[in-house]
Amino acid sequence: MIRAVYPGSFDPVTFGHLDIIRRSSGLVDELIVGVLNNNAKSPLFSVGERVKMLEEVTEGMPKVRVLSFEGLLVDFARGVDACMVIRGLRAITDFEYELQMSQTNHKLDSKIETAFLTTSLEYSYLSSTTVKEVAAFGGDISQFVPKNVIDRIQEKYRRK
Ligand code: ADP
Repeated sequence: MIRAVYPGSFDPVTFGHLDIIRRSSGLVDELIVGVLNNNAKSPLFSVGERVKMLEEVTEGMPKVRVLSFEGLLVDFARGVDACMVIRGLRAITDFEYELQMSQTNHKLDSKIETAFLTTSLEYSYLSSTTVKEVAAFGGDISQFVPKNVIDRIQEKYRRK
């Protein structure tokens, strides 16, 4: 039984994240999407809102579960009995940070391996940050995020 964790901020979930979720869940028995509760990043969406949006978009995926976590990723992975961490790589700019994180995590717990999936070409430019920037100026984000996320982002910026 291979259980993997796909951790991130998901503020909010994009089609790029969904692509990694779809592809990686096909490789494992269970995929736990771990939503990081990190107030230092001052996210647009609360951790509860981010979990809810991910639950909605992964509803038809029986192998996928969504949980939030705080603290060290290796502690979370160990706590849910996962032996693998999945991360997405978009460009060379992601590489240095991801390499450092995976090596640090391996030092902290050598039983947990990190596996990288390279992004599908059509999403290689896509990040939650740019989605929020476009949405803040009223731009069309329908190519970037699912419908339930569009509605929630628009609602946020209407209130601001
Ligand atoms: P973090 O703040 O941990 O980087 P993100 O929510 O930005 O969290 O990303 C979570 C994971 O998803 C990371 O591994 C990131 O590289 C990956 N990811 C983000 N956007 C994309 C994309 N467009 N295509 C593939 N992977 C992506």
